[in-house]
Amino acid sequence: MRVLLSESEISERVKALGRQLSDEYSGRPLTILGVLTGSIVLLADLIRATSVPLRVALIQAASYRGAETTPGRLTINQSLVPDLRGRDVVILDDIFDTGNTMVGLYQAVRGFQPASVRSAVLLWKTARTEVDLEPDYFGFRIPDEFVVGYGLDFNDDFRHLPYVGVMEDEDLKHALAKPQDG
Ligand code: 5GP
Ligand code: MG
Repeated sequence: MRVLLSESEISERVKALGRQLSDEYSGRPLTILGVLTGSIVLLADLIRATSVPLRVALIQAASYRGAETTPGRLTINQSLVPDLRGRDVVILDDIFDTGNTMVGLYQAVRGFQPASVRSAVLLWKTARTEVDLEPDYFGFRIPDEFVVGYGLDFNDDFRHLPYVGVMEDEDLKHALAKPQDG
């Protein structure tokens, strides 16, 4: 698999994002709302790079179905979301692709009456944006290629890779040919 972003590039950039959030949310009731499942690695690294008091919360969004690399119908599960009333929320996702997921998440989060809502993502596929919204914080702009690692999956595999890699057609074929559990 071709490495797009190395472990050390990601680490440096995430630390810089943490410093930026620390500056901008100093003295504010910050909640970082991680989007399951793709944001878990970023969430763990970013909160440790952020030096202001904050709370961590989780919400679930899914738009990919199994072995597809194109978006399907968006489903949001907000049953894990705590009380956000009056808090400054940063929605944290792995990647901003068409942007439809983030738009849906904004709608869901506004229902909790937070003081403010912003979005942060590791990756932004700028060429694919379909919505009238841009991420407030992002790690890297990337080209329109299907990527995995650092939390991002293909068919639930590869999330554990410490780098971000590009799934080429050959890699996709390989991944699908692998025997499945059960
Ligand atoms: P959007 O709604 O912005 O089109 O898609 C956002 C979601 O699609 C992300 O949270 C992520 O789960 C998935 N996604 C979009 N592009 C990629 C990609 O290149 N690789 C992986 N693994 N997931 C992606
Ligand atoms: Mg996701």
